[in-house]
Amino acid sequence: MNKKRILILGSTGSIGRQSLEVLAQSEAFELAGIAAGSNAALLLAQCAAFSPRFAALSSPPEGFSPPKGLRMLLGEGALLEACEQDGIDCAIVAVVGAIGLRAVLRLLDRGIPVLLANKETLVAGGELVMRLAVERRVPLLPVDSEHSAIFQCLRGAEGNPPKTIWLTASGGPFRAWPKAQIEGATLEQALRHPNWSMGPKISIDSASMMNKALEIIEAKALFQVEPDQIEVLVHPESIVHSAVEFSDGSVLAQMGRPDMRLPIAYALSFPKRMPLPYPSLSLVEIGALHFERPDFERFPALRLAYRALEIGGVAPAALNAANEAAVELFIAGRIPFGEIARRVENALERVGRAELSLAHIELADAEARRLAMEPTGR
Ligand code: NDP
Ligand code: MG
Repeated sequence: MNKKRILILGSTGSIGRQSLEVLAQSEAFELAGIAAGSNAALLLAQCAAFSPRFAALSSPPEGFSPPKGLRMLLGEGALLEACEQDGIDCAIVAVVGAIGLRAVLRLLDRGIPVLLANKETLVAGGELVMRLAVERRVPLLPVDSEHSAIFQCLRGAEGNPPKTIWLTASGGPFRAWPKAQIEGATLEQALRHPNWSMGPKISIDSASMMNKALEIIEAKALFQVEPDQIEVLVHPESIVHSAVEFSDGSVLAQMGRPDMRLPIAYALSFPKRMPLPYPSLSLVEIGALHFERPDFERFPALRLAYRALEIGGVAPAALNAANEAAVELFIAGRIPFGEIARRVENALERVGRAELSLAHIELADAEARRLAMEPTGR
């Protein structure tokens, strides 16, 4: 049997590590290559365990010398170089941030199917990415749990279009906090997600609900619906991963334990399902599922997603870039938590309007990052 040769971009991160765990569950896959940013120690350990043909590091530590016998791609261009290698049947894109956009476009252009965790790429360049995937007839499968859920529900729809997508959200660690307390939340508090263990950037995005804002834009791109067809539904247990309502009022939902290995495995083995040794979902143990309306007042990021879609063009790219910059400022202790959304809003409203192209996206991205450095004075 020919094994499916997998490339993982962002192998040292939360999704990357879980992807390797899933890969190890089946004889059907082998690791073609891996790419990461700066975590050389973990990257080399992964090479020792999985023997990929190549490994890439974008920011190798000073004095780094690759071990003999391992083909290594090093430096700023390493991520894209990894996408240029031969012998790749499928790529899991799990880097964090809009740096994934060029890589995804390159992979699709080469006809390599993409399993996409990196939502910032679809926020920044969703239309370009989807257009290319259709043009080249290359599969692009969502790994983000909500979008995997929606994708699975739509598979059961026999081509009937969705009326409304119910995008579920845990509400994050500040779901029940008053506005003033959210404003001054600490980094430690923002990193403590109730249901999921994730990388730092997405954890902070979940606390501000910017993660859900990005996911609204991601859903619009993936499923080609209108913004008013996407409704956020707060669901603190994170068991219903999203749902789709049809014109007859029937609603299909996808459920599972909050465990990213499940949507990763689904995308990897699609359209088949692979057996996994993890515990079953016990609804009896959970007992009750709860649902709430989202609060746009305490979580202004949600409002900004619809605003960015209303402006269109490069606005979503600007929203994403400003958020990436503002989250870095918050992690560095330079702005309070509540300032993140204000910086994003300020950048979103001020960034130059332009039609969609890769060049315009990259210009808007750079401009929004610069605008996000400016105090909003509130
Ligand atoms: P992490 O921060 O845990 O991992 C990020 C990965 O990206 C690391 O491997 C990092 O390498 C790599 N990376 C960063 N910059 C570069 C670069 N310039 N070149 C190459 N590699 C780079 O993030 P997560 O795994 O949590 O998230 C990854 C993506 O998946 C994000 O877009 C997130 O929104 C999305 N996602 C994550 C979920 C989760 O549960 N974690 C759920 C749904 C979506 P290094 O560490 O070596 O620097
Ligand atoms: Mg998600």
